[in-house]
Amino acid sequence: MATLGNRRSTAEIIQRYGFDFRKKYGQNFLVDNGILDKIVAAAELGKEDCVLEIGPGIGTLTQRLAEEAGEVVAVEIDRELIPILEETLADYGNVTVLNEDILKTDIRGVAETHGGRPLKVVANLPYYITTPIIMALLERHAPIRSVTVMVQREVAERMRVGPGSKEYGALSLAVQYYAKPEIITHVPAACFMPKPNVDSTVIRLTRYEEPPVAARDEEWLFALIRASFNQRRKTLANGLANAGGLGLSRQQVESVLSSMGLPPTVRGETLSLERFAELSNRLCEFR
Ligand code: SAM
Repeated sequence: MATLGNRRSTAEIIQRYGFDFRKKYGQNFLVDNGILDKIVAAAELGKEDCVLEIGPGIGTLTQRLAEEAGEVVAVEIDRELIPILEETLADYGNVTVLNEDILKTDIRGVAETHGGRPLKVVANLPYYITTPIIMALLERHAPIRSVTVMVQREVAERMRVGPGSKEYGALSLAVQYYAKPEIITHVPAACFMPKPNVDSTVIRLTRYEEPPVAARDEEWLFALIRASFNQRRKTLANGLANAGGLGLSRQQVESVLSSMGLPPTVRGETLSLERFAELSNRLCEFR
């Protein structure tokens, strides 16, 4: 089997199978060995690890992961890719391919049936569902140790930035509550087949054992964060008082803001994760 990770062998295999790229599945395959090396190194894999790969495509990254990790579970939605994966992964006895939608995958079940340890996620993600995938992986009870993924550059920025940046929002706060984000490398469009219209970045999220801030009620914290960024140009007081599901009055919100030394006109995008946790703990009594 020819080594994948370059334009020639990728073109050869997709032609031989008569495979048509499907835009709706975000199919941009990696054809750059240097970038593959960087992703695999950043994931810090050992034989004790089980990797969950999302969207193996034709198996380019999967082959590398199988060489470094103890086991790989690769979840691919596109049925047309399964026969190709059977060929490209035939020499790797430690890979299991699941033909399903990652958003419906029982991630806890995968961890339990493959060694019982928390999984390391490594992927060149389909960009159309990056945020729901990241949220599902970080969710409190998901057995995930780290997430090393290729995403759209702008989304990587949103995960990493703090208050004061125009990219700062609900995704930044959610990611930084659960994990430490680190940019690994930026990736030009020329490293993919076909070339995407956006620039890409590899980011690693290392999950914290304990969140860096103490929230009395996590669900309430995230409900407040979502409401705060739902209407970006509004003040925090307006955003929270207008969010039907929260049941907070304007007066309650303003009095808590004032007790924190904040003006009634403060905007969500200026508050750090620590301040959001404090706000949520103080507003808890009005639930
Ligand atoms: N890993 C390959 C590579 O780097 O060359 C392919 C990456 S491509 C950006 C994204 C892959 O995710 C495609 O193979 C696509 O079919 C698959 N995919 C898209 N949506 C998916 C979903 N909901 N669940 C599982 N896989 C999905």
